[in-house]
Amino acid sequence: MTQFIQRETTMSAAKFTPISRLGEFKLIEKLVDGVSVNKKLTKLGIGDDAAVIPYLENRDYVISTDMLVEGVHFDSTYTPLKHLGYKSIVVSVSDICAMNGRATHALVSIAVPNKYSVEHIGLLYEGIKTACGNYGIDLIGGDTTSSSTGLVVSVTIIGEVESRNVTYRAGAKPNELLFVSGDLGAAYVGLQILEREKYIFDKNTNAQPELGRYEYILERQLRPEARIDIVDRFNKNQVLPSSMIDISDGLSSDAVHICNSSRVGVKIFEEKIPIAEATIKTANELNINPTICALHGGEDYELLFTAPIYLREKIESFDGVRAIGHITSKSEEVSLITTQGDVIDMASDGWDSFVKNKKHI
Ligand code: ADP
Ligand code: MG
Repeated sequence: MTQFIQRETTMSAAKFTPISRLGEFKLIEKLVDGVSVNKKLTKLGIGDDAAVIPYLENRDYVISTDMLVEGVHFDSTYTPLKHLGYKSIVVSVSDICAMNGRATHALVSIAVPNKYSVEHIGLLYEGIKTACGNYGIDLIGGDTTSSSTGLVVSVTIIGEVESRNVTYRAGAKPNELLFVSGDLGAAYVGLQILEREKYIFDKNTNAQPELGRYEYILERQLRPEARIDIVDRFNKNQVLPSSMIDISDGLSSDAVHICNSSRVGVKIFEEKIPIAEATIKTANELNINPTICALHGGEDYELLFTAPIYLREKIESFDGVRAIGHITSKSEEVSLITTQGDVIDMASDGWDSFVKNKKHI
């Protein structure tokens, strides 16, 4: 072992590839290359918002795991621990929603640095338990250890769905419409305000953070909700999206995921992208383009999905859901039609935890 480590560390630096050169998605692709599915029960393994494993003749489990890391996903100076706990469950529930499923069980693992007290971690768990209560989830286990760096919260979530209702990232067909729930970009501008106030506070510890008028965008960043209401609406109205993903990385990046998996393209119309008034106001104040925030910001936890045109009216009758574009046969072409009518080729540029400075688009 020692010899092995030595050999690794004496290798010339030129032989190593910085992870930032690949980015998160390419890294996962590389790591899981050659992983095969050997169990008959594995209906879907890696590659979607959750894995799918049947448990009854006509029902499937959907299983997903997500991690929140201090200094990467949250900053402890402005993230209330109760909110962090709540959010850690929500981001996982959102992945189950993306499969059209209902979250039922969660396992929570934490790595805690010694700067946190019992009371602090108690607050984190208050948030976790509140979220489990609100979403009807049983907390059934986890793991607890210390951390030599930051706080890590890892949630594994299990949900269930009728087999014929599972929605994948693959399944979008040319001429279908692309729909999105809620509004986009708010969590991103919320983060920018928190970063700004932290910067001001760091310079002058007497400065009082000025957060009162940013309530909506801060709530979207610190205490988001998963769209289980939309999944309920699909069920009640017998609407089955042809493909679906949750917007965790950003509209552009997550639209690319649907297109790549479905081998189709998409045209998104800028004027149709839903952005809340509060988001536009704050983006203007910060001198950033609100559309860029919606496209690349991420952490919206809204649902992005496709369905045939004839379902448009029914779907748009759901609270705040609207069509923002349509699917094309041009594989992997993801275009934005701007309000001026220009066509922009959208590179996948969502939140990628390995790409530096992503917080400042
Ligand atoms: P999401 O943004 O919905 O959480 P990710 O982009 O994190 O999805 O992951 C995409 C897919 O890759 C998922 O199927 C996930 O389970 C899988 N995946 C991510 N990281 C790893 C890993 N280290 N090993 C195996 N599979 C992974
Ligand atoms: Mg997801």
